[in-house]
Amino acid sequence: TAAVALRGVSLAYGRGARAVQALSGIDASFAPGAFVTLVGPSGCGKSTLLRLVAGFAAPTGGTVSTGGSPVRGPGPDRGVVFQQPRLFPWMSVRGNVEFGPRMAGLGKAARRARADELLELVGLGDAAGRRPYELSGGMQQRAAIARALAPDPSILLMDEPFAALDALTRERLQEELRRIWQTTGKTVLFVTHSVDEAVYLGTRIVVLSKRPGRIVLDVPSELPHGAD
Ligand code: ADP
Ligand code: ADP
Repeated sequence: TAAVALRGVSLAYGRGARAVQALSGIDASFAPGAFVTLVGPSGCGKSTLLRLVAGFAAPTGGTVSTGGSPVRGPGPDRGVVFQQPRLFPWMSVRGNVEFGPRMAGLGKAARRARADELLELVGLGDAAGRRPYELSGGMQQRAAIARALAPDPSILLMDEPFAALDALTRERLQEELRRIWQTTGKTVLFVTHSVDEAVYLGTRIVVLSKRPGRIVLDVPSELPHGAD
């Protein structure tokens, strides 16, 4: 079963003469464990495609499914990371990571153990008790990744997660994300407008074009991942 499948997917914002056709005729399916990078110019529908898979929007045509089931809304099988970390400022870093498991009804000791394990994974073991605003942008984005992983989703959806970071921090987080992907075996869908980043990170590279957003290229990456 494909981790993510899109069949004849289209999405228009608005109606009639003012409608914006953001996506049209999208067909793709992604195998479990793939690191898919979605790349293309601003406005080609990358975020829209990710939002459809996340369940934040419904397609106007076609079907989107994850793990063989139609997407009907957000769910614990999908974790989402945005360009801005969007952490709860009044909670500690650990509290932010515990939030999902707490909502899912996990007991205090278990969710704390889960949060601490994930904070170790993203290199924030020492920052668990701190508040988001005490952290650098890169550390906040690490915390957001840990939060997204907390419900143990099989799919990680990331919308330009490193675009707001300086170049050095971005490179570090790219390396860490690749290591996390290799360690956890998650399926990653990663939106970027940087061809460099798409080719560097992806095991599969999907290129979209504008008006309306269509897939113009969908290729496996030949790079030997993990060899360096
Ligand atoms: P990308 O992420 O590639 O920059 P988006 O998915 O954000 O592209 O947008 C695709 C197209 O849909 C663009 O033309 C954008 O202006 C339009 N769009 C996105 N969100 C909305 C919205 N909520 N209402 C109307 N148009 C939108
Ligand atoms: P991105 O960083 O992905 O390009 P944008 O800054 O284009 O995102 O969009 C930010 C938010 O504004 C999104 O929620 C998107 O749906 C919405 N949006 C984008 N384009 C439009 C538009 N033309 N009309 C209304 N909302 C839009």
